[in-house]
Amino acid sequence: MNRPVKQETILIVDDEKINRDILGNLLKHRYKILAVKNGEQALIAASREKGRPDLVLLDILMPDMDGYEVCRRLKASADTKDIPVIFISAMSEVSDETKGFELGAVDYIAKPISPPILEARIKTHLRLKRKTDLLEKMLSIDGLTEIPNRKAFDETLNKEWRRTQRSSSSIAVIMMDVDKFKQFNDNYGHSAGDDCLKMVASALCGATNRPSDFVARYGGEEFCAVLSDIDLEGALKVAEGFRIAVANIGIPHDFSGVAPHVTISIGVAACKAVPGSSGLNLQKAADRQLYNAKETGRNKVNGVALS
Ligand code: GH3
Ligand code: MG
Ligand code: MG
Repeated sequence: MNRPVKQETILIVDDEKINRDILGNLLKHRYKILAVKNGEQALIAASREKGRPDLVLLDILMPDMDGYEVCRRLKASADTKDIPVIFISAMSEVSDETKGFELGAVDYIAKPISPPILEARIKTHLRLKRKTDLLEKMLSIDGLTEIPNRKAFDETLNKEWRRTQRSSSSIAVIMMDVDKFKQFNDNYGHSAGDDCLKMVASALCGATNRPSDFVARYGGEEFCAVLSDIDLEGALKVAEGFRIAVANIGIPHDFSGVAPHVTISIGVAACKAVPGSSGLNLQKAADRQLYNAKETGRNKVNGVALS
């Protein structure tokens, strides 16, 4: 089945209206066009969360902030560094072009532009970007359970930690581990173990409340979650929801010694964004809580608030 392709957005940055109009008219049949007249507006348009451009066409000579500086800033920010930038400039010295590439641009097109060549180059760069994005996505998914993997968890925790610090809000990490899973594998077989992990993953994902709640497979029979804008009390509730969701699948486990079905133990750590701490510290604290839950009977939730 052919799915409709999302219309891609191109941000045109040029201080001269005539140039913005020429480029916009040339491309508007195929792409969604955003056009701005200076570097400041370009940075705002590129960094907004919704409707972020898929590619930037950037003029170099502009008053206030020139195109080189705009490119440098786009490449310095985690949110915008992957947006391909094509310089379009009347400056055609080798040194101008070289500088553009050194700043991270994917292409440099000298004015006067040739419309078919411009369109062909844009098409190529957008195709490459789509492929890179797909590859990135695949590298972040766990092969067995098809939920995000540890790499995605590390990246999400880092990103959410930074966001939490900027907004002075709070954040929680949840670490989870299937109880007596070695016994499960040894008695029911590895393939049944794999099926069990898939069902646990799906139950955990189904038990989240908010779109921003993030669940991943940390590795083996360990799962983890990052929750934003939440205190310990709230995070403990979500964790209890995880515990019950897994118990409710009712996967028989006659060799657990904890319950007649598969269960998980959970450690929770929550904190306000404190300077000097890190997402990794929060994760370690959640891990210690998980260890305590294991030591004190399993199939339970333990938590701590860091200050
Ligand atoms: P505890 O209650 O203390 O967590 O005990 P446990 O048996 O769950 O923990 P242990 O770390 O001793 O054993 C984990 C088992 O998980 C051993 C390993 O073979 C199994 N395992 C890890 N990854 C996978 C997987 O992808 N598939 C399957 N089927 N088993 C896995
Ligand atoms: Mg285990
Ligand atoms: Mg384990």
